[in-house]
Amino acid sequence: MSEFSFSIYGFPVRIYEIVLPRRIVSRIIDIIEESFPIEACGILLGTIKGKVARVEHVESLDNILGSSRAFWFDERDWMQKIIEGKRKGYRYIGLFHSHFREDAMPSLSDRHRMLECPGEVWLIVAYKPYMKPSFTAWRIDDWGSSILKLKILIE
Ligand SMILES: [Zn+2]
Repeated sequence: MSEFSFSIYGFPVRIYEIVLPRRIVSRIIDIIEESFPIEACGILLGTIKGKVARVEHVESLDNILGSSRAFWFDERDWMQKIIEGKRKGYRYIGLFHSHFREDAMPSLSDRHRMLECPGEVWLIVAYKPYMKPSFTAWRIDDWGSSILKLKILIE
């Protein structure tokens, strides 16, 4: 989907840091809790200034795999939510999804998907009930690049 994706979200913008306001963090956790034990996923929308993306809005997407170990979504749904976000004045930043384990590292299938979406930010939330959630964020620019871990600022 990369050719299409480039036209819709206007990457490549090189994002190195992602800012998550606390209300966004709690919205993401709500989506994840609703989905449990199926991996939750959704899109991150907001502003991008220089190397910093600030998430202002999130939209959930249905995990069409219905899996607690993997996720994907209907790409028309994804596209529709990006377009709606743009109408509200937000830029597309990337995706979030949950891991129902302690580990917020991208899985092999996550890495393969990331290669299809160069420049996109991938926020992974490790979530288990009664465990403090942990967040990581990643980006791959192109086939020749290694995966880059992004700085996350929760404020
Ligand atoms: Zn994953």
